[in-house]
Amino acid sequence: MAEQPPPHIAILPTPGMGHLIPLAEFAKRLVLHHHFSATFLIPTDGPLSSTYKSFLEALIPLGISHLLLPPINLSDLPDHVHIETRISLSVTRSLPSLRQALQSMLSTTRLVAFVVDLFGTDAFDLAFEFNVSPFIFFPSTAMALSLFLHLPILDGSVSCEYRDLPDPIQIPGCIPIHGKDLLNPVQDRTNDSYKWVLHHAKRYRLAEGVMVNSFMELEPGAITALQVEEPGKPPVYPVGPLIQLSSDRPVEDGSGCLKWLDDQPRGSVLFISFGSGGTLSYDQLIELAFGLEMSEQSFLWVVRSPNDKIANASFFSANSQNDPFAFLPKGFIDRTKGFGLVVPSWAPQAQILSHGSTGGFLTHCGWNSTLESVVHGVPLIAWPLYAEQKMNAVMLTKDIKVALRPRVGENGLIDRLEIAKVVKGLMEGEEGKHVCSRMTDLKDAAAKAISDDGTSTKLLAKLAQKWRSKISN
Ligand code: UDP
Repeated sequence: MAEQPPPHIAILPTPGMGHLIPLAEFAKRLVLHHHFSATFLIPTDGPLSSTYKSFLEALIPLGISHLLLPPINLSDLPDHVHIETRISLSVTRSLPSLRQALQSMLSTTRLVAFVVDLFGTDAFDLAFEFNVSPFIFFPSTAMALSLFLHLPILDGSVSCEYRDLPDPIQIPGCIPIHGKDLLNPVQDRTNDSYKWVLHHAKRYRLAEGVMVNSFMELEPGAITALQVEEPGKPPVYPVGPLIQLSSDRPVEDGSGCLKWLDDQPRGSVLFISFGSGGTLSYDQLIELAFGLEMSEQSFLWVVRSPNDKIANASFFSANSQNDPFAFLPKGFIDRTKGFGLVVPSWAPQAQILSHGSTGGFLTHCGWNSTLESVVHGVPLIAWPLYAEQKMNAVMLTKDIKVALRPRVGENGLIDRLEIAKVVKGLMEGEEGKHVCSRMTDLKDAAAKAISDDGTSTKLLAKLAQKWRSKISN
């Protein structure tokens, strides 16, 4: 008898490396541990960045293929349109080609599930049309997922802007949080980006299940609340931490930063990166440079060209358009040569965080970066920029207490003295020791969650079994 092809899943990542990376880890687990096959269906609005492309290509030998959907046109959108709107439209405008792709996949594979990420719920209509089970992979915190599921209620019960509410908001299972710290697109309820987020949030209930990249010991309150069964609420599977591992890919050390780390004392280096898309204003970049210099701590900084208008100027490309070093203070590179290294635009973060010389991470609090730090036990300085990063920063500093947070001055900038103080505090001070010890506990808990009989491993196995049973019935 001919061997049956493996169960197959179709995955629709919305634009952004931060969405693709954890979805790829999820697909890898299903392929390597549960003998599935998987295809990424990629919406595009032009050529992919080289980083994105090489990431997808590295998955092919593992049995994870991809199909680039024909580019859609977003040129009618005004420049100031928010990323949530742009991302959502990149999905809705790709629906005709996505329909064709799914149709042909149905005739060649044993498709058991269609997985979208946080802004992909409009593609569920195709899942219903083709009778394929729709699932969401939520690449952020259980706290943010709890907010998404709660948002329709909040929207109906609050009439002002959330940021103007006098009292903190109680998201089910989470630390109370001020409206001004909620994710960016809910800061202005008249903006299209809020309407899109609310639209998706309402559609989350259409999913047969939601996988969230977190684990019980990290977010016990939010996960317990998410797992309370309610009519119409999809089951939630905390399957994290799913992170890119340093051993997964050949090391590309074009900048020589890993070699440089090899020569630094253990735990001595502060790594600084604002994720795949984060950018600082010019004035803030200058303050950060002087603050690092004044701290006299070793640092490895991924520098991107500044942008005075938006904090996610590189979200769709991951690379700077100009030479970022040209914006650093005069003589900065020479003066910090003995203890600092700057790398333009992109660095092998997984390898850096797993390197023994890395002792701290100044991060924009993107969730993948946070989880990578948790897995490697690296304590944080929280410097949120956009999306849900302020929420993450509140959780990291106030709830799980693995991060220090510099104070923003009245002019909206974090000044050099404050930066130097917090950097010293993390790398040498008592407060640094506390967050470091807490991070070590979480590192152990993370390792346990994804061990052979860990909670996340078991839930993923349960999900795989559920999907597999769709073809054996
Ligand atoms: N990343 C990287 N090198 C860089 C910047 C980012 O490898 O120079 C990776 C990082 O390891 C993480 C992802 O890109 O896996 C960024 O995801 P995150 O959720 O932290 O932030 P986002 O980019 O979505 O804002």
